[in-house]
Amino acid sequence: MNASRTVNALTIDVEDYFQVSAFAPYIARSEWDRRECRVERNVERILAMLESRNAHATFFTLGWIAERYPQLVHRIVAQGHELASHGYGHQRASDLSPDAFFEDVDRAKRLLEDISGVAVQGYRAPSFSIGRDNLWAFDTLARAGYRYSSSIYPIAHDHYGMPEAPRFAYQVREGVLEVPVTTLRWGGRNFPSSGGGYFRLLPYAMSRWMLRQVNERDGQAAIFYFHPWEIDAEQPRVAGIDAKTRFRHYLNIDRMPARLERLLADFSWGRMDHIFLNRAALH
Ligand SMILES: [Zn+2]
Repeated sequence: MNASRTVNALTIDVEDYFQVSAFAPYIARSEWDRRECRVERNVERILAMLESRNAHATFFTLGWIAERYPQLVHRIVAQGHELASHGYGHQRASDLSPDAFFEDVDRAKRLLEDISGVAVQGYRAPSFSIGRDNLWAFDTLARAGYRYSSSIYPIAHDHYGMPEAPRFAYQVREGVLEVPVTTLRWGGRNFPSSGGGYFRLLPYAMSRWMLRQVNERDGQAAIFYFHPWEIDAEQPRVAGIDAKTRFRHYLNIDRMPARLERLLADFSWGRMDHIFLNRAALH
């Protein structure tokens, strides 16, 4: 497959900087409403970047954000992007009981659909928090009416990951497709190749090479993800956090907009539902 003809999936997890899971020990949920919100202007910047490149994407949006910024939801949909769910309150699926998880994903889906008037089919768990210990989550997603998930990261990582999971889209339950975020298979191991902190850590040329390997060698579409706060060098700094969290969160944020522009230019990008749901219907 020619890399230039592969349409890869661009995904944005719509949340603000104070909602990041690694900050949870430092910022109580009850404080969220008192923090300076940056998500609206950051998503506006992303929408403008995508529009200038004529690229489309999937926005996995928190219910908490949609409730406060309904006009942002309208703009995402009006520009031809897919609106999908990141749950309501950014709680890890692995921290919730099946009932509490249902409540969270059902609430988010209804809210996003009520605001936007479009059907929400996709879900991404906060911090890729579906893995071997909570595969029941897919039954819950099916019950809530989701058609696909992009919630498993087939790597070994200290906060998440299921290294033995399939690397590419597969039917995980009747009616539900799991589309794992992209890894590069190298020397018998899976390496994270789909964005987030690794994209900011590695030189751009390395990230591009990894994505091309997936397109050309594996013949598969890649899934790339980032967050609105990752392009925001001016965001308020969270004080008192540990060194690892600080490094992971703020590393190379000032370089991110230019890197994203290159990424948008070097590959073709589209929505998750367009790339994966139609193909799944053929199986
Ligand atoms: Zn998230």
